[in-house]
Amino acid sequence: MKHRSGITVMARLVGLVKPLTGYMILAILLGLAGHLTASFLTILGGWAILGGLGFSAPASTAGLFVCMGVFALLRGILRYGEQACNHFIAFKLLALIRSKVFQALRRLAPAKLDGRDKGDLISVITSDIELLEVFYAHTISPAAIALLFCTILCLFIGAFHPLLGLLALAAYLTVGVLIPWATSRLSGDLGLRFRRDSGALSAFVLDSLRGLSELLQYQAGQRRLEEMEARSSALSGHEAAMKRVTGRNMAVSGLVILLFGMAMLFASAGLYLSGQVEFDGVLLPTLALLGSFGPTVALANLGSTLQNTFAAGNRVLDILEEQPVAEDLTGRPATQFHTGVNVEDVTFSYGGERVLDHVCVDIPQGQIIGLVGRSGSGKSTLLKLLMRFWPVTQGSITLSGRSIGEINTADLRSMEGFVTQDTHLFHDSIANNLRIAKLDATQEELEEACRKASVHEFIMSLPQGYDTPVGELGDTLSGGERQRLGIARAFLHNAPLLLLDEPTSNLDSLNEAVILQALERERAGRTVVLVSHRASTMAVADRVYCVEHGRLS
Ligand code: ATP
Ligand code: MG
Repeated sequence: MKHRSGITVMARLVGLVKPLTGYMILAILLGLAGHLTASFLTILGGWAILGGLGFSAPASTAGLFVCMGVFALLRGILRYGEQACNHFIAFKLLALIRSKVFQALRRLAPAKLDGRDKGDLISVITSDIELLEVFYAHTISPAAIALLFCTILCLFIGAFHPLLGLLALAAYLTVGVLIPWATSRLSGDLGLRFRRDSGALSAFVLDSLRGLSELLQYQAGQRRLEEMEARSSALSGHEAAMKRVTGRNMAVSGLVILLFGMAMLFASAGLYLSGQVEFDGVLLPTLALLGSFGPTVALANLGSTLQNTFAAGNRVLDILEEQPVAEDLTGRPATQFHTGVNVEDVTFSYGGERVLDHVCVDIPQGQIIGLVGRSGSGKSTLLKLLMRFWPVTQGSITLSGRSIGEINTADLRSMEGFVTQDTHLFHDSIANNLRIAKLDATQEELEEACRKASVHEFIMSLPQGYDTPVGELGDTLSGGERQRLGIARAFLHNAPLLLLDEPTSNLDSLNEAVILQALERERAGRTVVLVSHRASTMAVADRVYCVEHGRLS
C-alpha cells in the first residue's frame, strides 16, 4: 500500500469533483449566505438593544425585528439548500467512484487479484467509499465556506477597530486550523490502522464462512472464534481511542471559544475606556465573534474523522491507481483465427521461481493438443498465458501469425474459450449462469450445449429445470455437475480455440465419454488444448506434450 500525504489524498479526491463544479459553487454560496444570516441575527439583536438604550442604530427597532424574522426564515432555507447540494454531490460522486473502482478491478483481474483478500476489497468498495461521503458532503465546501465567512467577519469586526479584527482572526485560526491540526497529529495513523484492521476483519470473516466445513471437521471453530473476538476488540479499541481524541477536541474547542469571547470583551472594553471605540464597538464585536464559530467548529470537529476519511481515500486511490499486469488492448486491427497458435521459446515466472523454461508448443488449427505433467508443473500457467491473463515477457506467443500482445482483448476473448480448473457459478438460475457465455442464447442453444457437456439430463431432472437457482458459488451442486456446466458454457461460447484445464477431473467415465465424443464431433472447426492427468481423456489428443520442470517434451 502506498502512503500518500493528507494533502495528496485531498487533491486527488477534490479532482474527482470536476464534473460537479457548478453544484459545489452553489453549495458554497448558499452555505456562506446561510452562516451570514445566522451571525447577523445576533448582530441585529445587538443593534436592537443599542437602539433601545438610545444609541444610534442603522434602522428603527421595528425594522430590525422584521429583518431578524426574514433572516431567521432565510437561514433555514439556505441551510437546506446547502445541505441538499452537498449531499447531491456526495452521493453522485460515491456512485461514480464505485463504478470507477469496479472498472479498475476489471482491469486488474485476474492477474493482480490472484491472492488478494476478497473481504478487504469488499470493505473498500462498501465502507471505505461510504466514508468519503464525509469528505464530499462535510469537508470541501465547509472549508471554503469557513474561509470566506471568517474573512467577512474579520473585516466587519475590524471596521470597529483593527485590533479587534486581528483578535477575531486569531480566534478563527486557533479553532479552525490549530486545534484540528493538533488533533490530527495526536490521533496519528489511528484512522489508517482502523480502516486496515476493519478490512482485515471482514476478510477474516468471509474466509471463515467459506471454510466453515473445514473448521467444523478439524474442530478449529473455537480457535477461529477466539481470533475473531480478539480482532473485534482490537478494532473497538482503535475506535474508542479515536472517539477519545474527538471528545477531547470538542471540549478544548468549546473552552477556547469562550476564552476568545472574553478576550474580545476585555479588549473592546479597554479600547472603549481609552476612547478609541464607541459603546457599540464593545457590544457588537463580542456578539459577532461569539455567534460566528459555527463554520470553524464544524471544521474543527472534522479534525479526527478526517484521518479516517483520508485513510479510506488512500485505500480507494490504491485500487484506482494500481497498474494492471496486462492492459486491455483496443484499436488494433481485427484478427481471425485461421492458422492456429504458436508458442515460441516462452520463459515465465510469477515473480519468483521459474514456472516455464524455454517452452515451445505448436497448436495447428483443427487439432487436439494434450498437455500432461505433474501437479504444479505449469500447465494451467501456459493456458493463462494463452489467454493473456499475464503478459509474455520472454519468448512469444502468436495466434494466426500475430503476436497475442497485438490482438484486441475483445477479439482474443471471443476466439478463445477457457474452462478453468474450478468453475465459478453465480447465485442465479442455471440458464442465466450459462448465458454469461452468450447473452442472447436461445433455449435450444442452451440445451444443445448442455447435451454436449452431458449435463442436459441432470438439469431436466431438477424441479425447475433450467430455471433452477444455484446457491452462492454453486455450492448446491456437486463438483462434477459444476464442471459440466463450465464445459457447457464453453460449448455455448463456441470459440474456435478451446482451452480445457482438467475438464474431466471430477467426472465418471460415462460422462467423460459423452464429452470426449462431443469434442471429437466438433473438431472440424475447432482447435483444442486439453490439460488432463487422465490417460482416457488424453486418448482423443492428436499430440501430447509433457510438461516437466518447466520444460516441454
Ligand atoms: P495442477 O496440475 O495441479 O493444476 P499446474 O501444472 O496447472 O498444476 P500451475 O497452476 O500452472 O500448475 O502452477 C505452476 C506453479 O506456479 C505452481 O508452483 C504454483 O504454485 C505457481 N503459481 C500459480 N499461480 C500463481 C500466481 N498467481 N502467483 C504466484 N505463483 C503462482
Ligand atoms: Mg492446473
